[in-house]
Amino acid sequence: MRKTAMFLFFVNFMMVIIFGAYVMISAQEYESELLLKNDGKSTDVIGKADIEITEEKKEKEEPKVTHIASDLVIKESNAKIKLANDDIKLDNKIIFGSGRIYLPMEIVEKLGGKIDKVGEKYDLSVNNKKFSVNYEGNVKDRIEKVIYVNEIPYIVINEFIKGSDFVPYIDSAADTVTLYYKGGKNYSKDNTMQPVDNSMKAYIRLEDIMPDGDNPDGDYDDEGLEKLRVMADYLNTRGQEFYIAWIPVYVNPQLNITHDVSALSTLYNADFIYTLDFMVDSGGHLGIHGLTHQYGNYVSADGYEFDYNCPWNTEEKEQRMVQATKIANYLRLKYEFFEFPHYGALYDDFINAEKYFDMIYENNQYYYEIANNIYTIDKEDGRKITYVPTPADYVHTEYDSTEMINRLTECRDTGKELSLFFHPRLDFEYISGGVVEGNKRDYHYSDYVILPRIVDRITEMGYKFSEVEK
Ligand SMILES: [Zn+2]
Repeated sequence: MRKTAMFLFFVNFMMVIIFGAYVMISAQEYESELLLKNDGKSTDVIGKADIEITEEKKEKEEPKVTHIASDLVIKESNAKIKLANDDIKLDNKIIFGSGRIYLPMEIVEKLGGKIDKVGEKYDLSVNNKKFSVNYEGNVKDRIEKVIYVNEIPYIVINEFIKGSDFVPYIDSAADTVTLYYKGGKNYSKDNTMQPVDNSMKAYIRLEDIMPDGDNPDGDYDDEGLEKLRVMADYLNTRGQEFYIAWIPVYVNPQLNITHDVSALSTLYNADFIYTLDFMVDSGGHLGIHGLTHQYGNYVSADGYEFDYNCPWNTEEKEQRMVQATKIANYLRLKYEFFEFPHYGALYDDFINAEKYFDMIYENNQYYYEIANNIYTIDKEDGRKITYVPTPADYVHTEYDSTEMINRLTECRDTGKELSLFFHPRLDFEYISGGVVEGNKRDYHYSDYVILPRIVDRITEMGYKFSEVEK
């Protein structure tokens, strides 16, 4: 009897220890997974607060969240939604699902449209457009298109916009999402030169896309993000595909900024994520371009992160890659490649990157074969790793488009890949967007500036910016 009591006590004791250890490990894991340890305006602190509030809310209000991926982090937003100048009065608030905007499905009716639910499918008609979203389609598409919170259905913003043909403008400072009707100047396929049938493949990568909106001189505030969407739409309308080099965390030590786009559910972060979704829906292929693209006192996109001067050892550098993939996974962003900042990395870093990524953009000194052409490595475990170089280099300044066109011609003549990268900001002053006729949003991309000229030239040569065949 006594022995049994002792045994039970022991079992109990062990269970408490094991449970306690589990809680500690889980908490620690979560921190190391999503949050950066950094000085300054640390996402560490902000991120934790955000997550804790969410967890607390779950316990207190017990919102019943029904969706296939049960790890979606739900947070209510106070953001307003408008149709041009008029408030749309919703019965339910907008919510963030792991940072992404979800609109209560009722918005369709509030805009004068109609909702028909057929099984798990919603047939929607609004703004003279008909479209469907399917709850069951969630797993395949990675991003949950429809979720239920407290049994109320919500639709993810990019599906709503794609189907309804409204044009959104997100104003983070005013905490407002405004829908507009599409203006007349927005692109149509009819008035642009299209690729010929059986075009040969060229490749373009839009470089250094990062959440730098806290920096007054940053490229990607709400306006810059809209310009990026216009650029993606332009490329799509011209029949082009493109790669997107995304930096998940923006660091600016001088301004004391560390901005992890996944750390907080804010309208700015949602604007950034919506823009990536929009680009992917418009022929974009997303990739990870380091975790911060800097170390020490360097600003993101200026600094290296994996070269021999970096303060981290190989394992720590590997963890930076892993952390970047975790941010992408948390945000349900499908990544298709990795690119070391400034192509700088040591041999072991390549070996590590090959563990997590099937495609690597690089002009690499370790695999001499890939300097000019796409090169595939067969790994022992049966995986294939595709290395993609950029022998046409990048557009150095706003005056460099003629040189780039010459380099592309030279690549064609010397059997090199027609592959380049481009910083979108170089064309930003030639992209405009704004309200016309009170309730329409128009945008325009000048014809004779860098990217349109490059697309014209490769189209004339019989090429098309394409997806890399793996
Ligand atoms: Zn870069």
